[in-house]
Amino acid sequence: MIVLGIESSCDETGVAVYDTARGLRAHAVYSQVALHAEYGGVVPELASRDHVRKLLPLVRQTLDEAGIALREVEGVAYTAGPGLVGALLVGAGVARALAWALEVPAIGVHHMEGHLLAPLMRIDGEAAMAAPPAPPFVALLVSGGHTQLVHVEAIGRYRLLGETLDDAAGEAFDKTAKLMGLPYPGGPELARLAGEGRPERFRFARPMTDRPGLDFSFSGLKTQVLLAWQRSDGSAATRADIARGFEDAVVETLAIKCLRAVEATDVDTLVVAGGVGANLRLRAALDAAMRARGGRVCFPPPALCTDNGAMIAFAGALRLEAGQHADAAVQVRPRWDMTALPAVA
Ligand code: ATP
Ligand code: MG
Ligand code: FE
Repeated sequence: MIVLGIESSCDETGVAVYDTARGLRAHAVYSQVALHAEYGGVVPELASRDHVRKLLPLVRQTLDEAGIALREVEGVAYTAGPGLVGALLVGAGVARALAWALEVPAIGVHHMEGHLLAPLMRIDGEAAMAAPPAPPFVALLVSGGHTQLVHVEAIGRYRLLGETLDDAAGEAFDKTAKLMGLPYPGGPELARLAGEGRPERFRFARPMTDRPGLDFSFSGLKTQVLLAWQRSDGSAATRADIARGFEDAVVETLAIKCLRAVEATDVDTLVVAGGVGANLRLRAALDAAMRARGGRVCFPPPALCTDNGAMIAFAGALRLEAGQHADAAVQVRPRWDMTALPAVA
C-alpha cells in the first residue's frame, strides 16, 4: 500500500511517501525555525500560515522524488494531534481533501505514536535492518514536548510507565541553551558544544534517580546550570564544560530510568524516538547499557528522530492496512492520550 504522510503539528512541515512493500520512498521536511527565531519560540498563527504556504509544494516535491503519481496514492495519513490546533487543521484539511478527491481512505495519526514507531520503519534501498524490533518492548520517547517511558505490549497497545513531571528532555536542552546565550532553538547547538567540553568539571544532579519510580523531572537541572554559568568566568571553554556536564546529567538520568523500565517489564529491547534521540552521547550510552545486559536498543536514523512526515506515513500505513480509517470530517485533537488508542490488529 502506498501512503502519503503529512505532519504539521508544530513548526515543521513534513511530507513522505511510504510503500508497505518497499519501505520509505521519499520524505521532505521544511523547518520554520528561521520564521520563529526572532520571537524566541513558536508563534502559532505564523506556524499555521506557513504550513498553508509550504504543504502543497512539498507534497508535489515528495511525490516527484519518489517517482510516484498522485493517482497511485492508496491512502493518506496526517497528524491529528497532539499539537497546535491551527497547524494541525492545515495538515488535516489538505490530507482529507486529497483523500476525498482520490477516493482513498485517510487516517488521523497520533504524533507520539508516529515518533514511537519510527524505529520500526524500513528505508527503501537500504539493506534490510538487523530485524526490526517487534513488541513487546519498552519505548523511551524524548522530544520537545514529551519525556515518557512506554511499555509497548503490541502496536497500538501502550502502557505509560513514567513521564516527566515538569520539563521534557528536549525542552530542558532548549531552555538551558537559551540561558547560556545560545541562539534559538538551542538544543542541538548545546549538544554540539558539549562535544567540545570536558566531562566532570561540572557535575549536576541526576534528578529523581535516588528513589524508586520511572518519572522524570528536568526543570531543577536548568536552575543548577544557570547558577553555575552566572558564577563562572563566562568563557567559551567554561560554557562547553557546563554544556557537557548538563548533557551527561540528562543522558545518565535517562539511561538509569530506561534500564529500570526494561527490568520491570522483563523485555530485552529498548526503542528510542523523538528529537533527543538524535543525541549521539545518548545513543552511545543506551547502546552500551543494553548490550551489557544482553539486549539491544533501536533508534531511527537521526533525521527521523525530529518531526517528519515519514513517521506519520508509516504509522498511518500500519493502521490503514489493518482496515482502520475515519469518516471525511476534518477533526483534530490538540490534546490526545496515546494510551487510549485502539490496538492495530
Ligand atoms: P513533541 O514531539 O513532544 O510534540 P517536538 O515535535 O517539538 O515535540 P521533536 O521534533 O521530536 O519535538 O524534537 C525536538 C527536540 O529535540 C528539541 O527540543 C531539540 O532541542 C531536541 N534535539 C534535537 N536534536 C538534539 C540533540 N542532538 N541533542 C539533544 N536534543 C536534541
Ligand atoms: Mg519542531
Ligand atoms: Fe515531535
